[in-house]
Amino acid sequence: MSTPSLHSVSPPRLQDLVVGVVGAGTMGAGIAEVAARAGHRVLLLDVAEGAAAAAIEATAGRLERDVQKDRLDAEEAAAVRGRLEPVADVAALAACGLVVEAVAEDLEVKRDLFAALEEVVADDAVLATNTSSLSVTAVAAPLRLPGRLVGLHFFNPAPRMRLVEVVRGAATSAAVVDDVTDLVRAWGKEPVTCTSTPGFVVNRVARPFYGEAQRMVEEKVADAATIDHVLREVAGFPMGPFELSDLVGQDVNLAVSRSVWEQTFHDPRYAPTVLQQGLVDAGLLGRKTGRGVYSYAPDAPEADGPRAGAVVQPRTMRPTRVRYSEGWAVMEPLLARMAAGGVEVAIVGESDPECTDQIGVLLPSGGRLLETDGSTASSAGRDVVVLDWALDAQQTHAVVVAASPSCSTQTLSEAVGLLQAAGVAVIVVRDTAGLVVARTVAMLVNEAVGVVSRGEAGRADVDTAMTLGTGYPRGPLAWGEQVGPACVVAVLRHLHEAVPTGRYRVAPELRLAAESGSPLDA
Ligand code: NAD
Repeated sequence: MSTPSLHSVSPPRLQDLVVGVVGAGTMGAGIAEVAARAGHRVLLLDVAEGAAAAAIEATAGRLERDVQKDRLDAEEAAAVRGRLEPVADVAALAACGLVVEAVAEDLEVKRDLFAALEEVVADDAVLATNTSSLSVTAVAAPLRLPGRLVGLHFFNPAPRMRLVEVVRGAATSAAVVDDVTDLVRAWGKEPVTCTSTPGFVVNRVARPFYGEAQRMVEEKVADAATIDHVLREVAGFPMGPFELSDLVGQDVNLAVSRSVWEQTFHDPRYAPTVLQQGLVDAGLLGRKTGRGVYSYAPDAPEADGPRAGAVVQPRTMRPTRVRYSEGWAVMEPLLARMAAGGVEVAIVGESDPECTDQIGVLLPSGGRLLETDGSTASSAGRDVVVLDWALDAQQTHAVVVAASPSCSTQTLSEAVGLLQAAGVAVIVVRDTAGLVVARTVAMLVNEAVGVVSRGEAGRADVDTAMTLGTGYPRGPLAWGEQVGPACVVAVLRHLHEAVPTGRYRVAPELRLAAESGSPLDA
């Protein structure tokens, strides 16, 4: 009987394509389930005796629970279970038109496996690696037919996560990329294609989400619980970077950072932190060890846990009247809310001698409340409070501010009272370049623009990858477009002035967009 290849199988005949999955651990078991649910006969292989059969039984248990919860028809569950078969050796995968490997993350182990697979499968069978950090180009290099190997980077848990990165190695043929992309879509997943570069899209673009947060703690901008709270409540991320890295494992998260940093020849953008290395050295790996940045002991007080939150300013008298110069993106919607909260907001006209583009809100004390452009409050004047970005200033229920060290208590108190009049909780952090949200978002935008401008992935694909793969509330390119490339560049410029290591250098295309007004997300 001839074996259908991936190239000859159109979606209606998907069932004809036999899929091999090698490695029956966390990812392999999930990928096998995805393929079986899509209608394929799936052959599952693992070196550990009994591991493939055990993984199939565990999958059967999950299917059964889905039946009990009315999420799956009993007949369909039995059919999916019937399509999963454990096999004992590589030779048993000869009939597969596609083999996906999810074995140990080790270049030699993967190369040896593919060399053995090439001996048994047909020449038009496609081989895929689920590696999260190795070069797909390097995995494929020793193959007789390297054009047939592609990266298929599933996210954990594979049955639930919609995103799959389809990774092109230097030798991967365009037809293989196209066929695998179509197949992934037919499996109900959302494929994004990218080239094999360190971290691919998601793990590359997400680096600053963790790295900036760790640096902010090292720089005493705020503590970890405050930064997590701000990035959740003000910036809209589903989890803060510290609770997320505790969930993933500080060791796993550090290994990804280290891998990207090493593969980019120690680019300071990706340098791991002393803070995270210290957590790993101390065995504070996160949930799996009961303690990481936070404590997960059953009797731990909430103040030590991942939802400790931030200290918010006590209720303060609001000023009755402020003056304001127009043109501030975050401030404007908040001022409308302040006005609705009973504050009289008088616009300072262009002819007014007080009208400079640095006014922002003029408080009764004579001090000012400015929206951040990335500079510190102290560099803007003696009596200044700066306001951080928010995901949506019309809806936000919390904001972040910092005051210059010489700021009077009256100015800070009036700024806090004014913001509270808009119905938001106010969190004060240390006066620092870029504050918390602007710093994080500007770095994500910069990274995303870099990926696109090097041709590693398309604009829409980068935003899709970050919203589906990490749950970001907005794709970084759309976010950069929304706040404006010039604002992002300004924040990065101030960060670069504060730390001129090259970490905060602006991606050339971002600078170009800021200068020319061309859109980032078109
Ligand atoms: P795992 O440790 O849970 O499973 C690996 C399995 O592979 C084990 O059952 C092991 O016995 C088996 N194995 C090892 N060498 C083998 C070989 N030569 N032949 C057959 N079986 C072999 O690991 P995992 O978390 O499922 O990760 C697997 C791969 O997927 C790695 O490359 C990893 O980087 C990648 N990945 C992991 C995640 C994740 O969140 N865990 C996400 C995306 C990608």
